[in-house]
Amino acid sequence: MNRKERAALVHEGLRRVIEKRTTELDHGDPFELLVATLLSAQCTDERVNTVTPALFRAFPDAASMSKAEPEQIFPFIRSISYPNNKSKHLAKMARQVMENFDGRIPETVQKLETLAGVGHKTAQVVAGIAFGVPTLAVDTHIFRVAHRIGLVTDAPTPLHVERQLKRLLPVDDWGEMHHLLILHGRYHCTARSPLCETCPIQFACKWYSQLAKLPGPVIGLNQKLGRYYCATRKHYFAEPDHISDRAGLEQLSCPKCGSMNVFDTRTGKTSRRIKDYRI
Ligand code: SF4
Repeated sequence: MNRKERAALVHEGLRRVIEKRTTELDHGDPFELLVATLLSAQCTDERVNTVTPALFRAFPDAASMSKAEPEQIFPFIRSISYPNNKSKHLAKMARQVMENFDGRIPETVQKLETLAGVGHKTAQVVAGIAFGVPTLAVDTHIFRVAHRIGLVTDAPTPLHVERQLKRLLPVDDWGEMHHLLILHGRYHCTARSPLCETCPIQFACKWYSQLAKLPGPVIGLNQKLGRYYCATRKHYFAEPDHISDRAGLEQLSCPKCGSMNVFDTRTGKTSRRIKDYRI
């Protein structure tokens, strides 16, 4: 299957199981969404949602927040990551909204990006959710999941992933796919322990199919004859060679024949590794 077909299957598969396809940041209007999204950088949505009710009661709009000093905002957000920087950004952002945009949150990605503390990802999230602009912001979940599933290749940065995903998907699907991939990464395809066996898009996942192709364990290996076993030449050895495979990943290989068909005699498992993105 090519990447466009894979993307369509993933979209369909995730739509079937994820009903709420929107942000998990609590907010009531574009201002609150902007503040919550800015606060969510390097922090979980869950934690941000614990501080925003009191923050929004004290500063319900850009006008009230623009009159506050960072020191007055800080106590409300002290329990989330980087509270010092974020309180400075919030105070400055609110002033910029008042001075440059007549107190209204700007509706385009370009204008949002002119605000303090608002990067490309935050601007896209706000423009997409609050104003319906077609956007596809890439966070760590999307970065990991898109690579694992095989929706992108050779995409070293979030911007590369964003460009490749946008080429694969119809514009009308960008916003929904953004939420689907984030939620799938947050609750199912997690960095350390992806729940592959119960995954609704297992059938379309490149990483899973690569895992399935790995040879199963060899039973009855004799540890005393060597730390490793070459299943190609059928002999034991102590010190493996190290070679790069086609994906550039370092693999153990047999020092006699160079085969990567090597097994650990302690566990019987293959030593073959598959590239992963554990972020
Ligand atoms: S099969 Fe596993 S790696 Fe692939 S998307 Fe599902 S959880 Fe992630």
